[in-house]
Amino acid sequence: MSERNISSPDFLLCCDCESPCYVFEWKEGSVAEAVCEVCGNQEVELFLTEEQYDGYAFSGAWSYRGR
Ligand SMILES: [Zn+2]
Repeated sequence: MSERNISSPDFLLCCDCESPCYVFEWKEGSVAEAVCEVCGNQEVELFLTEEQYDGYAFSGAWSYRGR
Protein backbone atom coordinates (compact mmCIF):
# COMPACT_ATOMS: atom_id res chain seq x y z
CA MET A 1 0.00 0.00 0.00
CA SER A 2 2.79 2.36 -0.85
CA GLU A 3 1.86 5.57 -2.58
CA ARG A 4 5.41 6.27 -3.51
CA ASN A 5 5.19 4.71 -6.95
CA ILE A 6 1.86 6.37 -7.70
CA SER A 7 3.06 9.53 -9.30
CA SER A 8 0.93 12.18 -10.83
CA PRO A 9 1.24 12.47 -14.60
CA ASP A 10 2.27 15.74 -16.21
CA PHE A 11 -1.02 15.97 -18.02
CA LEU A 12 -4.14 14.08 -18.94
CA LEU A 13 -5.70 13.63 -22.32
CA CYS A 14 -9.31 14.60 -22.82
CA CYS A 15 -11.22 11.87 -24.63
CA ASP A 16 -13.68 14.35 -26.03
CA CYS A 17 -11.32 16.60 -27.92
CA GLU A 18 -8.04 14.70 -27.51
CA SER A 19 -6.30 17.72 -26.04
CA PRO A 20 -3.80 17.61 -23.22
CA CYS A 21 -5.32 18.83 -19.99
CA TYR A 22 -3.21 20.34 -17.25
CA VAL A 23 -5.97 21.29 -14.85
CA PHE A 24 -6.67 18.21 -12.80
CA GLU A 25 -6.43 16.65 -9.40
CA TRP A 26 -4.65 13.34 -9.06
CA LYS A 27 -5.54 11.08 -6.16
CA GLU A 28 -4.35 7.58 -5.33
CA GLY A 29 -3.42 6.62 -8.85
CA SER A 30 -6.44 7.98 -10.64
CA VAL A 31 -8.12 11.19 -11.66
CA ALA A 32 -10.09 12.84 -8.87
CA GLU A 33 -11.10 15.94 -10.76
CA ALA A 34 -10.34 17.33 -14.16
CA VAL A 35 -11.49 20.13 -16.37
CA CYS A 36 -10.75 20.41 -20.05
CA GLU A 37 -10.13 24.01 -20.94
CA VAL A 38 -10.65 23.28 -24.60
CA CYS A 39 -14.09 21.65 -24.69
CA GLY A 40 -15.27 22.09 -21.09
CA ASN A 41 -15.41 18.37 -20.36
CA GLN A 42 -15.50 17.65 -16.63
CA GLU A 43 -16.18 13.92 -16.61
CA VAL A 44 -13.22 12.27 -14.91
CA GLU A 45 -13.91 9.07 -16.82
CA LEU A 46 -13.25 10.93 -20.04
CA PHE A 47 -9.69 11.76 -19.09
CA LEU A 48 -6.79 9.41 -19.63
CA THR A 49 -3.13 9.49 -18.85
CA GLU A 50 -0.81 9.38 -21.80
CA GLU A 51 -0.14 5.74 -20.96
CA GLN A 52 -3.80 4.81 -20.89
CA TYR A 53 -4.41 6.74 -24.07
CA ASP A 54 -1.75 4.73 -25.86
CA GLY A 55 -3.38 1.55 -24.59
CA TYR A 56 -6.74 2.66 -25.96
CA ALA A 57 -5.27 3.47 -29.31
CA PHE A 58 -3.63 0.08 -29.55
CA SER A 59 -6.66 -1.88 -28.37
CA GLY A 60 -8.78 -0.24 -31.02
CA ALA A 61 -11.33 0.85 -28.42
CA TRP A 62 -10.59 4.36 -29.50
CA SER A 63 -12.39 5.72 -32.50
CA TYR A 64 -9.24 6.74 -34.19
CA ARG A 65 -9.47 9.76 -36.39
CA GLY A 66 -7.42 9.37 -39.52
CA ARG A 67 -5.81 12.38 -41.05
ZN1 LIG B 1 -11.66 18.33 -24.12
